[in-house]
Amino acid sequence: MTSSIRLALFGPPGAGKGTQAQLLKEGLGLAHISTGDLFRSHLQQGTSLGTKAAEFMNQGLLVPDDLVIEMVMDKIVQVGRDSGFILDGFPRTREQAVALDKVLEEKAIPLVSALLVDVPQDELVKRLGGRFLCRSCQAPYNLEPEQFESPPPCSRCGGELFQREDDRPEAVQVRIGVYQDQTAPVLDFYRENGLLKEISGVGAIEEINARALKALQLDT
Ligand code: AMP
Repeated sequence: MTSSIRLALFGPPGAGKGTQAQLLKEGLGLAHISTGDLFRSHLQQGTSLGTKAAEFMNQGLLVPDDLVIEMVMDKIVQVGRDSGFILDGFPRTREQAVALDKVLEEKAIPLVSALLVDVPQDELVKRLGGRFLCRSCQAPYNLEPEQFESPPPCSRCGGELFQREDDRPEAVQVRIGVYQDQTAPVLDFYRENGLLKEISGVGAIEEINARALKALQLDT
């Protein structure tokens, strides 16, 4: 039964959370809810929420709790009634975690695990500095500095590769600091309630996926 698998995925920026969330989604048939993707889609559609969120996102700062909670909570509950899910990038503050916990308890669809994909800081800076995404299919690439000026096309779909505003060096340092100050306490919240599993996010993508499934006891 996959419908009872409800996970929250954690990791510093650049740890490969999005990639692992995608693999877990495909492998386990779960819905994938990413607050970063939701904000980016609001921005693309030109909504007022998207415009407000971008002010914070472009600087590497967190979007205020009330905006995030209002945007995502109903969606999680709706999805959670019908299927299992992976939360990617939410909750990111203790206040978000407390709000999520309360609503999921009320709806009798509590999280069953929280998974931290951890990567040392020097590796994160290296990874994020070279991270480019395809504008069409969102495939991630790691480019060398000499490719930054004129990136090659996406090898999957031929789309244009671009660097996210918040992957620029100034924003990366801020995002790592924000993670340490604001999101690390959320990990303590899930450590205290016994849900947190931790794995290393260094190595090949498939290896990390295998580690994740083992830690979550879903590797049978
Ligand atoms: P991500 O794609 O998960 O790295 O998110 C990109 C940006 O969206 C973050 O740096 C924040 O500015 C914003 N964001 C995403 N999720 C949250 C959240 N749960 N709380 C506050 N801000 C968020």
